[in-house]
Amino acid sequence: MGKRSKKTDEVDSKPAKRKSRKGRAKADDDGLLVGLDIGGTKLYAVVADSSGAVRGSARKKTRPQLGFEGVMGRALEVVAEACEDAKVPLEALRGVGVGAPSPMLPDGTAVNAPNLGWRNAPVGALLEGQLSRPVITANDCDAGTFGELVYGAGAGADTLVGLFMGTGLGGGIVIDGKPVCGENNMAAEIGHMVVVADGRRCGCGHRGCLEAYASKTGMGSYLRCQVACEGRETVLTELCDGDFGSLRSGALAKAYAEQDELAVEALHESARFLGIGVANLVTLLGPSVVVLGGGVMEALGKQLLPHVERAARASAFPPGTLKKTKICLAALGDDSVALGAVAWARQRLL
Ligand SMILES: [Zn+2]
Repeated sequence: MGKRSKKTDEVDSKPAKRKSRKGRAKADDDGLLVGLDIGGTKLYAVVADSSGAVRGSARKKTRPQLGFEGVMGRALEVVAEACEDAKVPLEALRGVGVGAPSPMLPDGTAVNAPNLGWRNAPVGALLEGQLSRPVITANDCDAGTFGELVYGAGAGADTLVGLFMGTGLGGGIVIDGKPVCGENNMAAEIGHMVVVADGRRCGCGHRGCLEAYASKTGMGSYLRCQVACEGRETVLTELCDGDFGSLRSGALAKAYAEQDELAVEALHESARFLGIGVANLVTLLGPSVVVLGGGVMEALGKQLLPHVERAARASAFPPGTLKKTKICLAALGDDSVALGAVAWARQRLL
């Protein structure tokens, strides 16, 4: 398919506009796809047409404790409910796109999803067997990044990088309209680029990864150290019941709004490191757009964006190169992975 021209001609750039068209009769019903977002806390499905207009949606809690088959049973229910909401039978769909929090093999196997406790889980095969529709799977951050390029903040761009800052730091790369998955299908693990030699220990076992600084986990490390070793105080201690490993974005936003000194420091440190990550990516890839999303940026994007930009500008090479790169906040919010999975499946199926 002629990827670039089709994508840019057909998409809407504003999610609000997309939703307002929900339910309206369309001439392109043969292009309907389901996008399924399998997250650690929620399962979310949308039925969308090829322009990214959402016709119907449904969500459920994931309940990872039910195990792979239990969660996938709920995922099938969510897909059925989204079809019901869109008033289209499953048979009318051209296929299903799936975003899952794991590196994904081309056959739809989720290699390792720590949030779900899955290893080598046959996500694609199970869905295809149960739904009798073609299923295309992707890593959730890769899907989210691609969704921003096709339907969101990066609409119209050819080369785009997405960074999603939440509990961890996920990322995705699209070059010349094509997602970069690498020879091993596990490329674009931006959060695990080492930015500090012998730095903080990361959840992956290495030291000094970007994620160990630019994430809620990184902020937790900083806060824990400042409170325990330096005897400093922060409202976040109470807001997270003393467990800095379980910081919520809402609590960070509250502490930031109160200008809690330590919370502001932790957030600005994460934003600075995120900017260093952006600088490295811009230096390496020269994207036209860098999209910043994830829970922390959804809650505090406006406040943190100038700090990210400043750090990025200070380190990108050649100096001034960022004038050609737009750094912006993600536009698709909650829909990003599901709509990205639709775009991903559309590129491969239609
Ligand atoms: Zn790491």
